Amino acid sequence: MAEPLDNTASPKQGFDTVLIANRGEIAARIQRACSELGLKTVAICSEADRQALYGKTAESFLCIGPANAAKSYLNQDAILLAARLTGAGAIHPGYGFLSENAAFCEAVERAGFVFIGPEASSIATMGDKISAKRAMIAAGVPCVPGPDASLPDDPASIERIAQEIGYPVIIKAAGGGGGRGMRVVPEACSLHEAITLTREEARQAFGSPVLYMEKYLQHPRHIEIQVLCDTQGNAVWLGQRDCSMQRRHQKVVEEAPAPGISPDAIRPVGMACAEACRQIGYRGVGTFEFLYENGAFYFIEMNTRLQVEHPVTEMTSGIDIVHAQIRVAQGEPLDLLQDDMRCEGHSFECRINAENPDSFLPSAGIIADLALPEGPGIRVDTHIHAGYRVSPYYDSLIAKLIVHAPIRAEAMAKMREALAATRVEGIATNLPLLRALFEDETFIRGETDIHYLEQWLKQRRPT
Ligand code: ADP
Repeated sequence: MAEPLDNTASPKQGFDTVLIANRGEIAARIQRACSELGLKTVAICSEADRQALYGKTAESFLCIGPANAAKSYLNQDAILLAARLTGAGAIHPGYGFLSENAAFCEAVERAGFVFIGPEASSIATMGDKISAKRAMIAAGVPCVPGPDASLPDDPASIERIAQEIGYPVIIKAAGGGGGRGMRVVPEACSLHEAITLTREEARQAFGSPVLYMEKYLQHPRHIEIQVLCDTQGNAVWLGQRDCSMQRRHQKVVEEAPAPGISPDAIRPVGMACAEACRQIGYRGVGTFEFLYENGAFYFIEMNTRLQVEHPVTEMTSGIDIVHAQIRVAQGEPLDLLQDDMRCEGHSFECRINAENPDSFLPSAGIIADLALPEGPGIRVDTHIHAGYRVSPYYDSLIAKLIVHAPIRAEAMAKMREALAATRVEGIATNLPLLRALFEDETFIRGETDIHYLEQWLKQRRPT
């Protein structure tokens, strides 16, 4: 249990020191942003991450626990203690780990620190997919057909709901995440078995058996909208990203803007997202995720945090999203209007993972040698260096390669060159797969949906 928290403490908005409650590339990214804003940083690490370079350049660097994330990066008490000991005024959760944990957000603020993210109530509303859907419908955001209510227990009522939606349907856990707790039901005969299995899975994985049902879209693209909101009621959307290139619901390549979707088609959806933020009193950065099929957008969920793929939006909007996020947390009003927003050129991001490109098994070990690409319009977000030991304990993301060029074809060519110039020796990476993907005709034409990568992987010979 947490030690008694001081309920009387109120967050100090004018903080000058930020504790970064994360690791890897995003910890390095946040640290850079803090330094640029003249803020001091506190880096934390597990025993497996003592080598982190961002730790050496932070004002304080504390090891808060063993390699096991449950005892370090997810250890709320240890993080709060580190913040107290170092005089931090704010905590940036990054992505993953505690970033979408409403209880952590609450504990941070009750202890008198600023949580660089939305209020706990926003995290809780959006963390429950049914309440999120309800809030989106109220704000006029288009959602996947299906009731914004949990499934009843009675089999006849469930069958009726499925028939009204029309098969195929998808059963989803209200508290689900990470691509788990979902089951597609192609026809009526498998409905009840699917419900029983998903309920049990949801109970075990998310501690809640609550399910809901919606239409299963067969060939959608994954399109998402980045928003930025201050505490004075201003909200803007910064454009859209296409993240359809996924394997097992994990994004591999992202781009902005989404190819083939006109500004006129996306504008009303972006405006509705900004309006939804105003209605729920959202603060900070967030992402509305949509499925896009036959010219229509369908909301699936909101991520109430910074996302891995935020750089492609930074490249096309010219806005440093992490700077903006920190300024908003300091109580500053947004210094941009929706009409000032621009989407210039085209950007791609490749996630370089320490994994076997054929089996996808994680690859740990020492990076014997490293060559990273350079040049105009090329950005690499990473925490690795030659001699760095990639540990087996965490996500396999070791670097993000980002490019920007005036048009999509040029950005693709730039990415091809950048991938060719990237060398990571000593461990296996997915670089061969990324290089092959950027030669693929369907991807080059911008005609991929969320199933494309998995089908492509099945068809292609091992590298
Ligand atoms: P999670 O929170 O687990 O990431 P999401 O609701 O974001 O769950 O869905 C993850 C992925 O599952 C989507 O990117 C999409 O590939 C698929 N998916 C979710 N809902 C639907 C749907 N209604 N139709 C088709 N695919 C869906």
